[in-house]
Amino acid sequence: MEEQKINLLNLTLPELETWIQALGEPKFRAGQIFDWLHRKQVTRIEEMTNLSKALQEKLRQAAEVPEVEMIRLQTDREDGTQKFLYRLADGQYVETVRMNYEFGSSLCISSQVGCRMGCTFCASTLGGLSRSLSGAEMLLQFYESERRFGSLHSVVVMGMGEPFDNYAELLRFIEIITHSKGRNLGARHITVSTCGLVPQIKAFADLLWQVNLAVSLHQATQEKRAAIMPIARKYDLKELKEACLYYVDKTNRRITFEYGLIEQETDRMEDAEALVRFCRGLLCHINLIPINPVARKEQQPPDKRRQYAFKNYLEKAGLPVSLRRTLGKNIDAACGQLKKKEEELCR
Ligand code: SF4
Repeated sequence: MEEQKINLLNLTLPELETWIQALGEPKFRAGQIFDWLHRKQVTRIEEMTNLSKALQEKLRQAAEVPEVEMIRLQTDREDGTQKFLYRLADGQYVETVRMNYEFGSSLCISSQVGCRMGCTFCASTLGGLSRSLSGAEMLLQFYESERRFGSLHSVVVMGMGEPFDNYAELLRFIEIITHSKGRNLGARHITVSTCGLVPQIKAFADLLWQVNLAVSLHQATQEKRAAIMPIARKYDLKELKEACLYYVDKTNRRITFEYGLIEQETDRMEDAEALVRFCRGLLCHINLIPINPVARKEQQPPDKRRQYAFKNYLEKAGLPVSLRRTLGKNIDAACGQLKKKEEELCR
């Protein structure tokens, strides 16, 4: 039986050093390979021109550099938001969205194929979880977007999937992309968004990394949150707030609470009052997001008047708040929508 090849892109530098020495090569070769893969972002071993032909052949026998295939690209004519659908090596699809801001472009990547968290407003969870992505598959979404459309300023792990449900590979992705000998993306240019997995929030705090943490809150009363986000039945709001306080205390970093505005569901004044109560005592920022309508789901974003009324209430209570402009209105920009369409076409 043919031995499985090592995925070079998925190795951290220390892992690559161990592996290359086991192959009978000096340790410094790992640094050269890491540089080709993550700084120069080549996709083929033969492009690593400072390695001898013999070593290139040895690498080809034992290892591979995975690729993704972009099979769909949608561009919003109004704001330039791009949505990519990638096909992975095993035929699964993931979505990635590139958004343009004044400070540069930011990429929203997926961490899983599908999701098992079951939030009622989200298309990614409609088919459940197929599998988690490797760190390399998260890197590929980023590198492929840079190769085709230029340098990125930042990345948010907020696409399909719950990143803390794929914790080890998430950390691998961050360790590799921030490495000074690789892509060297600043940790503060990375945001990880969770729906509220309490043990992982605490573990992430213990790392003392400078990565930004966002929590998808969407409701600030236990009963209402549990009705739209099943994770709240496992970790209730009290536990979530304790974990957030722990995070702020440990890292001295501000948490962003993502709050989706859904008409008549999360946008009433009583919801705003509950949100103010929840945020009391927390170093935080609130990001209000009028939801993108999801096909076959009944939830809709509120009109502008209701959006601003909600925002004003929070500001008057002294909370730092922003109302996100809806990017990618003219494409299937809510996560999971493009993948779902593609699968329906392929059936
Ligand atoms: S919102 Fe996030 S955590 Fe919830 S189902 Fe969608 S992808 Fe999963």
